[in-house]
Amino acid sequence: MAYSGPGKLRLIVDSGEVPDEAKAIASNHKPELLEHLRPNCRPHNNPDNYIDTPAQGRPGWIRSTCRVCGCFIGYRPIAGR
Ligand SMILES: [Zn+2]
Repeated sequence: MAYSGPGKLRLIVDSGEVPDEAKAIASNHKPELLEHLRPNCRPHNNPDNYIDTPAQGRPGWIRSTCRVCGCFIGYRPIAGR
């Protein structure tokens, strides 16, 4: 199971479909699971704490990591935000 964005969980299985039982458990316990999986870093949400580097192999894009925890945050186009 992985965090896949605000309020979203992604269930990962080795092969085939995610069992319905697992989906039910995940949705019944979603708030706790999200709390557990979410990056534990508040400064993360502040662009002032982003370290921006040119994205390897993606011309015109910036790769951002968090100055505080070192986590990868995301890619964005150089032009806008
Ligand atoms: Zn962070």
